[in-house]
Amino acid sequence: MDSRVKAYQILPRILRLSLCVMVCIFIVASLSGEARARTAAHVLVLHSYHYGYTWTDSLTEGIYSTFADKAPLDNIVVEYMNTKRHPTELIFPHLRVLYADIYRNTHFDLIITTDDNALEFILRYRDELFPKTPVVFCGINNLDNARLRKSKNITGVAEKIEIESTLNLIKQLQPDVTTVAVIAGMSESGRINLKLFREAIQHVDELSALDLSELPVDEIQAQLNKLDSTSVVLNLGLSRSTDGHIFTVDQGINLITQATNRPIYTAWDFAMKPGVVGGNLVSGKHQGAAAANLAIMILNGESADHIPFQESPNANIFDYIELQRYNIPLNRLPSSYILLNAPTPFFTIDRSTGIILIIVSLCIIAVSLLLHYNIKTRRIAAQAMSSTEERFKQLADAAWEAIIIQDEGIIHQVNNQFYPMFGYSLAESKKIDSVEMLIAPESRREFRRHLREDDTTPFDVLAMRKEGSTFPVEMRIKQMDFHGIKAGVLVVRDITERKLIEVKLAEINKTLENLVFERTKTLDQKASELEIANRKLLELDELKSSFMSTVSHDIRTPLTSIIGFTKLISKEFKSSFVGLVEEDSRLAKKRDRIITNLAIIEEEGERLKRLINDFLDLTRIESGSAEWHDQKIDIARLIQQATAVVSGLMPKGAAARIHMEIHEDLPVLHADPDRIMQVLTNLLGNAAKFTPPDKSIIIDVSTHNNAVEIRVTDEGPGIPAKDLVNIFDKFYQVGRGETTPETPKGTGLGLAICKQIIEHYKGHIHAESVLGKGSTFTFSLPV
Ligand code: ADP
Repeated sequence: MDSRVKAYQILPRILRLSLCVMVCIFIVASLSGEARARTAAHVLVLHSYHYGYTWTDSLTEGIYSTFADKAPLDNIVVEYMNTKRHPTELIFPHLRVLYADIYRNTHFDLIITTDDNALEFILRYRDELFPKTPVVFCGINNLDNARLRKSKNITGVAEKIEIESTLNLIKQLQPDVTTVAVIAGMSESGRINLKLFREAIQHVDELSALDLSELPVDEIQAQLNKLDSTSVVLNLGLSRSTDGHIFTVDQGINLITQATNRPIYTAWDFAMKPGVVGGNLVSGKHQGAAAANLAIMILNGESADHIPFQESPNANIFDYIELQRYNIPLNRLPSSYILLNAPTPFFTIDRSTGIILIIVSLCIIAVSLLLHYNIKTRRIAAQAMSSTEERFKQLADAAWEAIIIQDEGIIHQVNNQFYPMFGYSLAESKKIDSVEMLIAPESRREFRRHLREDDTTPFDVLAMRKEGSTFPVEMRIKQMDFHGIKAGVLVVRDITERKLIEVKLAEINKTLENLVFERTKTLDQKASELEIANRKLLELDELKSSFMSTVSHDIRTPLTSIIGFTKLISKEFKSSFVGLVEEDSRLAKKRDRIITNLAIIEEEGERLKRLINDFLDLTRIESGSAEWHDQKIDIARLIQQATAVVSGLMPKGAAARIHMEIHEDLPVLHADPDRIMQVLTNLLGNAAKFTPPDKSIIIDVSTHNNAVEIRVTDEGPGIPAKDLVNIFDKFYQVGRGETTPETPKGTGLGLAICKQIIEHYKGHIHAESVLGKGSTFTFSLPV
């Protein structure tokens, strides 16, 4: 597992780094190559002097090595004009003919001339011999040549000795030196150089000149021999002495070195012979290289006219052996220099190879550092992870569920719950080929779908134990990063018990549903039975009502006769028979009993009549057959009338006084005035009935919430709370003993009728009472 993880993580990094290294090498290689000229280009190198002349050879070396490094060419033709040996005026015509002949059929892409004579030749004959061919010159002292300045398609490199730089170098390397013995020879160039020296030394402090140029050989040697430790020699080319001796470069140098043991400095690299320390030198090799660089630019498409003339590419060149000989420490050398004869290092490499090696080394170091960092980070992470993992394992082991970590079907880790749930031992669990082995075959398709979908919603599947038995599980799959790989974490809960309970619940549910169905059926039956019974009852009620109505009506007629005849008998008996029995006390007693009995008959007859009337009235209202003659009502007036009626009905001598409290601006009601009068007289009548003669009754009217509210308050005995709730029921009468034993007999229908009337007009009626203090009956009628 771990080795897989490492390979996953480290290999891509190494590949990325290797790629970077290769890209770097490629870039460096490309850069070091710079622009490359066409290999097919044809270049003529025209030297002023001859092969074997040190200066010319060093120029050739610079040209060749630069082409070889940067733009290897197949076709470089070199011509030596030999003008050291033959005067130009003599040789130029021959060369003109020769070149015209031999290069008649040759086209050169570019010509490099070295030194003045070759350039002069080309300036004269280019148009004739090599028309339109670009020219690069080098080794030219005088760039102000007017003809050169005017020429087209020409550029090149100047050659100029830097005597002042060399004098400064002398001061830098040998601070004790105060005298510079200069030898410039008697040639034309020697005189020019000497003039340059005299100008230059003016600018260098603490150095004085000792001119040995215009002397015979012996004198030169003698003077050199006498030089002390504060002097050095500057050799500007001992080509001829005043006594007529002519010297080659080497001969001149030999003469000087043999005459003195003081350090010798010079101005040209070809003069760097044994015994010469060095200086800021004109370098044939550098001249050649600079010319070749310009040539490459032109061959690559640059116009020669766009390339300005280059400064003399001089270099600080020193001889290591001579520096050692004169105890000149290397740390006095200038920042850039070339050291000849230096001890050979163990091995040498060229510049571009060196750069590549440095970059490769840097890359390797970077890769090593990265690997080191990576290993360190991983070690720390591994330590952290192992403790995290340990904690995670403890947590996982504490879970009820089995937890399985798998990657592409391969199980990596399980918690302790896994083993008892699936019946595997630790060793056996390591041999499980695929996590699908834990799923019953019929559930595998479903399992795979959830594994693919990266959905964390729980789902139910059938799991399979080692021995093949299956059991229901609830599973949840979460994809997570596990040691750098994307693994699926399966959380598995055994839901066997839940499934059993679900089955039981389903059974109970079914039973309940059946029961409810049965009950509903019974209830429906009962409801239809009740409906039938209700219909029957309604029919019976109607029958009863019509029967009662008929019976009441039939009773009322004879009752009227009974009451009428009772009154008549009572009247006649009193007028005809009462006086006849005055003397006979026995008859007188009987007379009195007859009168009393007749009064009872009349009274009960009246009560029966009232009862029947009330009953018929109530029946009519309840059945909806009552007639209602609604009209505008002045409620104040109606109350006054009702009060008058009730006062008239009061027994004589009763001192009950009815007080009216009627608010002004009462709204007009729309109702049957007789019915409202019936309510008022009933309430006032009851109040009058139960109010002792010395107490008063108050009726007040007010308006509340779009309704007229009428309250009748008395100071009677009051009504017990238990009766108050039923007081508006039909035939309900409060027990006589509990209120006032003397109250007149009633029917128990008055309040029931009142309630029916008020509710007919969508009003309310209710009673409040305090036992022993009195009662208040309140009804309201919407406006
Ligand atoms: P009744 O014809 O018997 O008066 P009601 O329906 O008018 O029938 O009254 C029912 C009963 O309510 C009466 O029997 C009486 O006992 C009681 N009752 C009604 N008004 C009062 C009142 N103001 N004070 C005391 N009891 C009353």
